[in-house]
Parts: sequence; structure tokens; C-alpha cells
Amino acid sequence: MGSLASPVVVKNIIEKYGFRFKKALGQNFLIDRNVVTNICKTADLKKSDLVVEIGPGIGTLTEQLAHYAGHVIAVELDKDLIGILEENLRAYGNVTIIQNDILKVNLDKVVGDFRKEHDLAEGPYKVVANLPYYITTPVLMYLMENNFNISEIVVMIQKEVAERIAAQPGSKDYGALSLAVRYYTEPALVMRVPRTVFIPKPEVDSAVIKLKRLSRPPVEVKDEELLFRIIRAAFGQRRKTLLNSLRGGLGCDKEVIKKALTQVGINPERRGETLTLQEFAALSNIFSNLLD
Ligand code: SAM
Repeated sequence: MGSLASPVVVKNIIEKYGFRFKKALGQNFLIDRNVVTNICKTADLKKSDLVVEIGPGIGTLTEQLAHYAGHVIAVELDKDLIGILEENLRAYGNVTIIQNDILKVNLDKVVGDFRKEHDLAEGPYKVVANLPYYITTPVLMYLMENNFNISEIVVMIQKEVAERIAAQPGSKDYGALSLAVRYYTEPALVMRVPRTVFIPKPEVDSAVIKLKRLSRPPVEVKDEELLFRIIRAAFGQRRKTLLNSLRGGLGCDKEVIKKALTQVGINPERRGETLTLQEFAALSNIFSNLLD
């Protein structure tokens, strides 16, 4: 088993290659072996698993993923890290490194091509990462909205974002992200991680979340786009009542909104942050009839 996850080893590698951290790319590298092991355990990896890793850095998490999983496809944006990764992971025959922006990669195609080339059966794959925090939400939305064949996502992200994802209706952290994640997955906040396990030390604490992909959304809506438009409108102005925030956000007549809310039995004086996904879904189905 590899041993990149230590402060001394990471510092030596940084020095050896004269690597300079790029803050703009969210580069904070893990130095704690327990955290790396716990991330792998959370992903419940087997030799039959194919894992996509986003942002492998110098390969600290990658080597452990390679140890537990059948194959790892690691997508790293920073060209300066590719040579370092290749060198650090040379001993593992089951890692493919791709230099690209994750938001530009068609994961189903990359995984499909790899499996075809290696005569492997098609099927779902897992995504595991210590994400670059500056694009946490865009990356999660990209993975979920594209309907990639992912069975679960295990990622370390900023603690505050993890709390927003896991938040329940009525709490201050509950918002559009909590609802979007629940539409596609079953989320769980697995563990909180202090900032001291990274080099350089970030300004925020972290948490590991696990998102289990649902085979189908827990609610049935006629128009997904409308559902998310309503959700965004409801949280656009958190302090306003639902009636007023929807009026502003959707640009609809007050009477139309009142009628829709009354039809689904939602008090127009409630605030958006108290509505469940089921209530938003019912509302969007009524709206799609009214707006027809
Ligand atoms: N996995 C490593 C670790 O845990 O030590 C590094 C994690 S670091 C928080 C995030 C990594 O994502 C960096 O290596 C960074 O260069 C990479 N990255 C940033 N933006 C990216 C993007 N758009 N696509 C792919 N990788 C990206």
C-alpha cells in the first residue's frame, strides 16, 4: 500500500519538483492517512469498481483508490501535476490519468471507451474526490444533471456546503442546493474534517458527503426546468413570503400565484425555506397547468 499521505512525503514531493500551489485551482493536498482511508471506506470500494477521481493533485487519494478499486480514471486540470502524478503512481497498473477540466469531460464516454478497450462489462461507476472547493456546486450539478451512469459520489467539500446539502426544511442552511441534491440522490454527511489535514491549510473546515444516486427522482414532475425555476425563485429572496418571492422571481401575477398555492394547500404566507421537495413538486405541476 502506498504512503503519500504524510506531511513529510507531500512536502518532499513539492520541493523535489519545485511545484507551486495554485490557489485559483483550489489546490490543498491531503496529508492525513486516516482521512484518505476513511474516504475510501465510505465509497465501499471493491475490485469490481471503476472509480473516477476529480483533481488527483499529486496522487495521495488516487493511490489508495487504486489499492481498493479495480481501476481509477483520474481527471486533473493542472498540466504541472501530470508528470508528478505519472511518477508517483507508476507502481499502480490500474490508474489512467487524463489532463482536462472535469466540467468538459463526458464521463460516460470516457468510462465506456475504457471498458470497451479492456473488454470490461458496461455498468455504473463511482466518483470519489477531494474536490477543488471553488467549483464544488458546479461540479456536483454537472455530475447529477447530465444523468451520467454514476452509482454514488463520495466527496470531500467545504463543511458549510456539506451542511447545506444535508439540511432539512425549515433550517437556515436549507436551500436550492439541498433540494437539487435530493431530487437526484440520497445525501448523507459522513464526517467532518478539520483544516489541519491539508497542505497548504485552507481557510475553512471540510466534510465528506456521500450521495447515492436514485434510480428515479422521489417526486414526479411534468417539467423539471419549471420545478427548479420555482425553487430558485422561492429562495431568491429568503426573507419574503412565498407569495412575494414567487411573484418577483417568476414574474407572474399575484392572483395566479395565490391560486396555485391554494390549490396545493400551501399557505401563501409561508417562506420558501419551509417547503419540502414534495411540496415544490406539487406546486410546479399546478403551475405547469396554469401556465399552459
Ligand atoms: N486529490 C488531491 C488531494 O486530496 O491531495 C488534491 C485535491 S485539491 C483540493 C483539488 C485538485 O483539483 C487540485 O489538484 C486541482 O489542480 C484540481 N482541479 C482544480 N480544478 C479542476 C477542474 N476543473 N478539473 C479537474 N481538476 C481540477
